[in-house]
Amino acid sequence: MIPHVFSHPITPARERHFVKFDSQRHKLYAMEREFFGHSINTHVKRKDLKEMSEWMCYRWRVPAPKITFFYSKKTKVFGYADEYVGILLNSSYHGANYGTLIHELAHWIKDIRYGTDDEDHGPLFASIYRSLMADAKLMPQDCFDLIAKRYGVEVAEEQE
Ligand SMILES: [Zn+2]
Repeated sequence: MIPHVFSHPITPARERHFVKFDSQRHKLYAMEREFFGHSINTHVKRKDLKEMSEWMCYRWRVPAPKITFFYSKKTKVFGYADEYVGILLNSSYHGANYGTLIHELAHWIKDIRYGTDDEDHGPLFASIYRSLMADAKLMPQDCFDLIAKRYGVEVAEEQE
């Protein structure tokens, strides 16, 4: 069953979110497949994911999102974030882990702090994502830069 959260009526803002140009998306997904591979830790406690989200948002001076866990094999969506629903994590597709949470948090922080004009997976997103990965001790920044370069993913300067 498709979870209730996906049945929200589409507002103009959400529609824009889906149709807008997002040129780096597939490069970024390919890059993630390399660094997460099969090593995703899916045995993370929900409480720990929520704590990490609160800590990261505190550091970026944005309100923490509501985090909702759902279980669906029908959608290939691991996680989802927007300013209306917060962050959704799909526990059936390994969404309930630090990597997916950090990816979605990078969307959340970008949209809340810098607005939604920039591409969803553009250089600004990649820059925030890189900082979060380093802060969570999942990947040092120079390592992220090396892999990003290999996949042709552009990363903006570090954000204040
Ligand atoms: Zn994304």
